[in-house]
Amino acid sequence: MFCSQCGEELPETANFCLKCGVMTRQGIEADVPSPWKWDEEVEKTLSTVAKELEKTFETVREKIHTSIKGESIICPHCGGKNQSGSKFCSKCGNELA
Ligand SMILES: [Zn+2]
Ligand SMILES: [Zn+2]
Repeated sequence: MFCSQCGEELPETANFCLKCGVMTRQGIEADVPSPWKWDEEVEKTLSTVAKELEKTFETVREKIHTSIKGESIICPHCGGKNQSGSKFCSKCGNELA
């Protein structure tokens, strides 16, 4: 048997060419999973995970940003932190204005 790609002489049992790594007819017939395909699969999974992570980061960053950006209201009377949109201080009950 010879490699269809580089012409290297291969043992009849070889699933892949020893020289160039291309899958032989024997390998195709034996339905051997290609390591390249596997690589692609891993690559795909990794990039999906990376994208998910990016999205999560984005969300977390936004959340942190909003909470740092002082969406919270500091009470002028007691200095307590109150949620944005609060009308009265949750700590001392004074009006937040
Ligand atoms: Zn070859
Ligand atoms: Zn207060």
